[in-house]
Amino acid sequence: MIYVDNAATTPIKPEVLDKMMPYLTEKFGNPSSIYKSGREAKEAISKARADIAEALGADEKEIYFTGSGSEADNWAIKGVAHSAKGRHIITTAIEHHAVLHSFEYLGRNGFEVTYLKVDNDGLVNPDDLRAAVREDTSLISIMTANNEIGTIQPIKELAQIAKEHKIPFHTDAVQAFGHIPLNVEDLGVDLLSVSAHKIGGPKGVGALYIRKGTKITQFMHGGAQEYGKRASTENVAGIVGFGCAAGLAMKNLDKNIAKTTSLRDYFIKKVQESIPHCRLNGHPTKRLPGNVNFSFEFIEGESLLLMLDMKGIEASSGSACTSGSLDPSHVLLAIGLEHEIAHGSLRISFSEDNTVEEADTIVRELIPIVQRLRDMSPLYHK
Ligand SMILES: *Cc1c(COP(=O)(O)O)cnc(C)c1O
Repeated sequence: MIYVDNAATTPIKPEVLDKMMPYLTEKFGNPSSIYKSGREAKEAISKARADIAEALGADEKEIYFTGSGSEADNWAIKGVAHSAKGRHIITTAIEHHAVLHSFEYLGRNGFEVTYLKVDNDGLVNPDDLRAAVREDTSLISIMTANNEIGTIQPIKELAQIAKEHKIPFHTDAVQAFGHIPLNVEDLGVDLLSVSAHKIGGPKGVGALYIRKGTKITQFMHGGAQEYGKRASTENVAGIVGFGCAAGLAMKNLDKNIAKTTSLRDYFIKKVQESIPHCRLNGHPTKRLPGNVNFSFEFIEGESLLLMLDMKGIEASSGSACTSGSLDPSHVLLAIGLEHEIAHGSLRISFSEDNTVEEADTIVRELIPIVQRLRDMSPLYHK
């Protein structure tokens, strides 16, 4: 089996699982309890919080664990919007659904939303943001790196515009965290979302960085966990796993970036050399180290995925059934692709564990599959 859908999720790293196991077994105490097993659990959470804070260049008191990246996005957006006076909020057309649907929800509930357009490579133009800002703008949310096409936004420049107008700036950094360097001070963001399962940690745990002094409503009422802002007995093992995964990602960051980037570029070149009528989606260089996204003209992405699956290759597409609807990906449409072409897209997301041999195998399998599907397409012969 060849797994190249690391943008969807990643396997838990063995070291991470080892660190988690005790908190699922003998060290089962509730972190709010004062006896030994409780104290141990509490200490483990503090250690993980420090690891996440360090990875982001933040203070431990600015890291709030959540139940996922989606929860961090929802909290950041609704929490800031609901604590502000202004009724205008800004995001982009290419956000993850956790962000996009939160904005749509607010749009149906008294807020006015501006969705910034992106160029053909998926980049937001800072001038567009500058032009969209109003007197009553109370939140800007722009993702650090896109999960489908991998494009990395000029977050520092965008956050600077927000700062000049004293508008809170949130970024969904779920795809970027652990894959490219990120520092909240350098970027100048006020809120930033991350998730464990995209970096070799467990599913069901994320975190929200909230800059000291940022106005935000409490996420969950109940106990005093997460500095009194997000009640719930902590997912101790998950949090421990997240901290460990983040530590590993930071330790190996440069090495992983070099390895994954060269694998990505090798694969892109091979596909372009061997398959005609294909388009690389996303920015050629300002893109995530492991991200590849191609549109193949005249074919349907779903069929492509199924045929790759039969060959033991697990990848993703931005079209049809995967997203539970017949519409092609909103991201591919936003970068200007025609419906037909957007439907024929394939996302391959490499991790540092993938190999050149695997990349070769994928290309070798892809060539006849694309040809077969094109032979079946009435459009191809025209
Ligand atoms: C995966 C992902 C999320 C959601 O994170 P979960 O932990 O799966 O809820 C949000 N934003 C982006 C960009 C993602 O890739």
